[in-house]
Amino acid sequence: MQPQLLPHMNKKTFLFVFFIFLACDVSSEKILIHNVNVIDPLDGISKNTNVEISNNKISSVGKKTSFFYSKKIDGSGKYLIPGLWDSHVHLYFDQELAKDMPMLFLKFGITSIRDTGGDFNFLDSIKKLSEKYSKSYPRLKISGPLIDGKFNVYNGERLPNLSVKTENVKETENVVNKLIASGADFLKAYEMLSPEQFEIIMKIAKKKKINVTGHIPLSMDIETASNLGLNSLEHIKNLELWATKDKNELLKVRRGMMKNTRNLSGLNLRGMIHNTQKNYAINNLDKDETIKIYEALAKNNTWQIPTISIYKVPIYKIFKDDYWIENLKYLPEKTREIWEERINFSNKNINPKQKDFSDWVQRTTKEMHDYGIEFMAGTDTPLGFLIPGFSLHIELELLVESGMSELDAIKTATINPSRYFNMENYLGLIKEGYIADLILLNTNPLENIKNTLDISLVVKDGKVYEDPLKID
Ligand SMILES: [Zn+2]
Repeated sequence: MQPQLLPHMNKKTFLFVFFIFLACDVSSEKILIHNVNVIDPLDGISKNTNVEISNNKISSVGKKTSFFYSKKIDGSGKYLIPGLWDSHVHLYFDQELAKDMPMLFLKFGITSIRDTGGDFNFLDSIKKLSEKYSKSYPRLKISGPLIDGKFNVYNGERLPNLSVKTENVKETENVVNKLIASGADFLKAYEMLSPEQFEIIMKIAKKKKINVTGHIPLSMDIETASNLGLNSLEHIKNLELWATKDKNELLKVRRGMMKNTRNLSGLNLRGMIHNTQKNYAINNLDKDETIKIYEALAKNNTWQIPTISIYKVPIYKIFKDDYWIENLKYLPEKTREIWEERINFSNKNINPKQKDFSDWVQRTTKEMHDYGIEFMAGTDTPLGFLIPGFSLHIELELLVESGMSELDAIKTATINPSRYFNMENYLGLIKEGYIADLILLNTNPLENIKNTLDISLVVKDGKVYEDPLKID
């Protein structure tokens, strides 16, 4: 006997309708991660919950809304965090490696990157690819070149040409206007600018509502730069020069040196100024002067990207550890060979002056965090043998080592960069309506931040990459 299906419908019609229904549901690409511990950077942990993904969005957190899923992922005992940002990257530094960097980032769950300096057209072409192929590229925000002064540091002689030289205020103004018109996502001011050049950058940026990051120009002091509206500072660069009792004298000397009577290259001139003043400054820090700086940074909302890894990894020679060498396997073969050779060639000695500086960066990070200053996690990869993707996890570890809580460290690589780019309403949290950029971890990162490397799968724009570190 035929089973009774639906009234007025024979079996053939029923199956046809049923499959159409199924096909519609599947075509909407509903994915369910069930029974998972969700870590929201703001709300903390919710245990054993369901997260539903429809196309490229998180469509529900908590309840199941469908019977049919194109994919079900068992999240039992696992931890879900938002996809991570590396907020300090230089794709242009190694153009050959840059071809492999997007995939390397995704493997390690870095679903967004903020490129902090390089040739605009080169970076813009990768940004366009990342927009077109949003499921297989990390999202990319670019500043274009470092905007530098008359004696620009990265002039392409010994180091890649990451900067644009601007001889005077008019040239700076033209460069800034051109970068904004071309679609730069933010601007980066560099160390050899004059105060007048820095001011014009800030003035235009304010008018066009675009963020400016940078190093404090050596011709200036950090309080003035912050008061002018500097939105963020990379590497805490040159903060210490204004944190001593004789800060005004140091500034006067720097301004004299910047006249460059010996006609040094920008790279050498900056090196000479740093050598003369930086270690002196951290050995002569003044508590009251330091607090005045923290107060200004907090009041003006000048965020910090301390990039502890670009100090600590090369200075402590962490790149010679077995653990580091082991992870070089993720690099493309040619790069791996070059890096291995250079690493083998370098000695194990730790320079005590450099060590002091690296330790100071970590102490300062903790103090600024306690002052309520906001942070973003960034590395400076691929400089300093910092492996793209992998190194961001090391940065999180170093932020925690400096004294930040695990949840606060995760915040610096998720919701904070989203806030920096006004994307906080749709990226960086695990909430309904947010973009499905996620990492499923096997172990709890709030217990040990190293667990952010224990990756089960990565989701980019709704696309699932299972066991991404095992994919060749
Ligand atoms: Zn950098």
